[in-house]
Amino acid sequence: MRQPDPKPAVLAGRNEILAGLQAILPARAIIGDPVALKPYETDGLSAYRQMPLAVVLPENEAEVVAIMKFCAAEGIRVIPRGAGTSLAGGALPMADAIVVGMMRMNRILEINFPDRFAVVQPGVTNIGITQAVQDEGFFYAPDPSSQLACMIGGNVSMNSGGAHCLKYGVTANNLLGLRLVTIEGEVLEIGGTHVDAAGYDWLGLITGAEGQLGILTEVTVRILHSPEGARAMLAGFAANEIAGACVDAIISSGIIPVALEFMDRPAIHACEAFAHAGYPLDAEAMLIIEVEGSEDEQTDMLRRIREICERFHPVSMRVSETAEESAAIWKGRKGAFGAVGRISPDYLCMDGTIPTSRLPEVLRRIGELSASYELQVANIFHAGDGNLHPLIMFNANDPASFAKAEAFGADILRLCVEVGGCLTGEHGVGIEKRDLMSVQFSAAELAQMRAIKSAFDPDWLLNPSKVFPLLT
Ligand SMILES: Cc1cc2nc3c(=O)[nH]c(=O)nc-3n(C[C@H](O)[C@H](O)[C@H](O)COP(=O)(O)OP(=O)(O)OC[C@H]3O[C@@H](n4cnc5c(N)ncnc54)[C@H](O)[C@@H]3O)c2cc1C
Repeated sequence: MRQPDPKPAVLAGRNEILAGLQAILPARAIIGDPVALKPYETDGLSAYRQMPLAVVLPENEAEVVAIMKFCAAEGIRVIPRGAGTSLAGGALPMADAIVVGMMRMNRILEINFPDRFAVVQPGVTNIGITQAVQDEGFFYAPDPSSQLACMIGGNVSMNSGGAHCLKYGVTANNLLGLRLVTIEGEVLEIGGTHVDAAGYDWLGLITGAEGQLGILTEVTVRILHSPEGARAMLAGFAANEIAGACVDAIISSGIIPVALEFMDRPAIHACEAFAHAGYPLDAEAMLIIEVEGSEDEQTDMLRRIREICERFHPVSMRVSETAEESAAIWKGRKGAFGAVGRISPDYLCMDGTIPTSRLPEVLRRIGELSASYELQVANIFHAGDGNLHPLIMFNANDPASFAKAEAFGADILRLCVEVGGCLTGEHGVGIEKRDLMSVQFSAAELAQMRAIKSAFDPDWLLNPSKVFPLLT
């Protein structure tokens, strides 16, 4: 198991720190009681747990500035946190750190329909943005499956994706501007409500920074006109590799469905049991393919996709006929990670990206690894983007089983890099993939990334021990 950096950063004692926080924040913004701190000891990567020194819950940017100035002056580490759904351990606390929870900064500040943008605070949930604009016929495109809970500040920090990002791009492609408070308490305005900005691409630098460069206090996102209509279809296949080859054939034909998702047999069965979506229980693998546009556009695209699927001898194919059927199909997919909990309460959700042409080979090799590690795996992923999510099941009460699951996961990520892909697709690096960064990046590349981190955060107080392999 990876350990946080053992070197404590805190110069003052715990009581002095709490007293210092009380001097700059209202009492309701500070949590120091161990029982009340308990919910913050982990995030979506629940195999790792660590109680923080304290939690603070600012309600406005001025309070964030005050917290940062205090922590910088006292040499206290800071862990920014949204909803804590990170699957990479990005929001995992440290014993000598203060968690800065952004959930109370949850207001929508401005919606501009003519110029198609919304300015929101970081604690607004992902779904909350779409809910705020949908009555006017708009939506916010990136849709992580955790969208009911996860917050836009966390989405920006992890550059999150989702099922419909195949057509619309991930968070980075849907952002216009940010406000960021540095560790010194300076406020930086990055980008704006316009498409491009002069100078370095700061927006690109901060997106996906995993809380390493500052705390986001405002996010400006693009909002898009809702499509005329959408329809989902299901195609079941006799093997994972065949479904993978079909994905590649669809993508390489030039068709871009709005979503193209993959589920294997364990996932199909776990999800069908609660969603009752009509998933093909006789298939070894299934694709959910959604198209959108006018009736004619949908019909034409579905016809072309069906023709491609036929070449791979599907065991079943079904196009949803009603909005309710489509909703059930997506209910199953979006609840898939939770549904796998029916098979095994403990699993590691891996996240890597590969070229779609390598899907059949990589799915076969994941199957072989599963057999050799003797650990069951369920595959549920954004196939059109080549963004894999093997869920490796293990027994959390058995440390040897957990160690084996971690080794299996590391082999999958190495495989992703080996075939020309990437260590992460949308979940970020966090503590989970930190020690594998050198599989993807050279020493010189990592040194340049560390230099950027140091430029923003010279004492490495912001979310340390994540992302970068520890220097010995
Ligand atoms: C069931 C489930 C399904 C998921 N599905 C998807 C999916 O489809 N696609 C996907 O991309 N991810 C998915 N995730 C992962 C997770 O939801 C995303 O990474 C999400 O963006 C995290 O948002 P959060 O608000 O929970 O952030 P947290 O987990 O609280 O934090 C994530 C990171 O962002 C930093 N951070 C948070 N807020 C701020 C801020 N205001 N300023 C600076 N740094 C900040 C934290 O320090 C941390 O490094 C899923 C997770 C779960 C549990």
